[in-house]
Amino acid sequence: MLKDFLAQIKPYLSNIPSYVFEKLETPDRAVEVSFIVKIQERETVLKGYRIQHNNVHGPYKGGIRFSPFVSKEEVNYLAFWMSIKTAVANVPFGGGKGGVIVDTKKLTQEEIEAVSRAYIRAIADIIGPTKDVPAPDMYTNPQIMKWMMDEYSKIVGKPTPAVITGKPIKSGGSQGRIEATGLGGFYILESLVRDYNLKDVKIAVQGFGNAGYHFAKFAQEAGFTIVAVSDSQGGVYSENGLDIDKVKEYKTSTGSVINTPDYQHISNKDLLTLNVTVLVPAAKEDVITEENAANIRARYIIELANGPITLDADTMLEQKGTVIVPDVLANSGGVTVSYFEWYQNMHNEVWSKDTVFNKLKDYITNAYNGVVHTAKEHDVSLRKGAYIVAVKRIADKMLTNNG
Ligand code: GLU
Repeated sequence: MLKDFLAQIKPYLSNIPSYVFEKLETPDRAVEVSFIVKIQERETVLKGYRIQHNNVHGPYKGGIRFSPFVSKEEVNYLAFWMSIKTAVANVPFGGGKGGVIVDTKKLTQEEIEAVSRAYIRAIADIIGPTKDVPAPDMYTNPQIMKWMMDEYSKIVGKPTPAVITGKPIKSGGSQGRIEATGLGGFYILESLVRDYNLKDVKIAVQGFGNAGYHFAKFAQEAGFTIVAVSDSQGGVYSENGLDIDKVKEYKTSTGSVINTPDYQHISNKDLLTLNVTVLVPAAKEDVITEENAANIRARYIIELANGPITLDADTMLEQKGTVIVPDVLANSGGVTVSYFEWYQNMHNEVWSKDTVFNKLKDYITNAYNGVVHTAKEHDVSLRKGAYIVAVKRIADKMLTNNG
């Protein structure tokens, strides 16, 4: 429950009135839609959501997820986390999230396009460059963002690139957006290595989608040893380190990392409990739970996925002394570069990749330092530190607006 997240930090923010916490437990608006798309020659009714959690700092912001497991409850959590994330990252947005209950693995490209356009028609009234700005999330990508932007532009009668971020570069997307979540996580890794003076760092990455792959690639290029990666079908392991390009090529040609030549097979479950320095869950929610938390051997966890550790598991790991860089900070590189993309669209600017990477480094390092500082000040975990930073920032604005 969202309430439980907020209850953990309430004692540290006793000067903030209770109604602020109460407001954050419930989104500003939760929209449920249904629409018809022709799938395999049959008219099919699909269901989706757009949940707008909070916009005191700017337009609602957050991705759209296509997955058979999407539920209103899940999107609600994700929208709340986006409000916290944009506040931690200090970008002028609020939080929102969208989702469609659909299994894209079973659809043709034409069908995915039809779903994307129909979903945007269903939510067109509530989105817009200064209202709510969606982006990619699980199983959505730049091409899908382009279709969505195009559909929205048709509806409003003018090209409107700033309605959505994560677009292909030639359609108004930003340099560096595709790498952003992984690169942001990598900058966090560099900060951890510096602050804790880590040596001979071995890393396991669960998830080899956009975030996991780019993180692994940047880390390997910087000389870190990635001993394991996985996708939904399973993983590969090599004590001396994997060649990330080779694994990527294998996944591109076969659809999965499993069976990449020369490497050992490892299950997703076993990957999590490997004896590594840093564990990077980069796949999905709730993979570290009460059941396996006691077996986690990594001393450091960078949450590249949203919500990979349940609250109970988080408490167990905290007691063990595991240092966890929470999702709302660790994966904020994505939304930070989304902000850069939106800014470039709004001001008709085009930035170089170097500019984007340097600005991202500044933003994420500042966010990290702010969270570390607050966590030290209150003697709490980095997760609680991040929530304290975010809720304080949101509350300040809410109180000024209401005062
Ligand atoms: N879906 C990403 C996230 O969870 C990116 C959101 C965005 O760029 O708006 O942070």
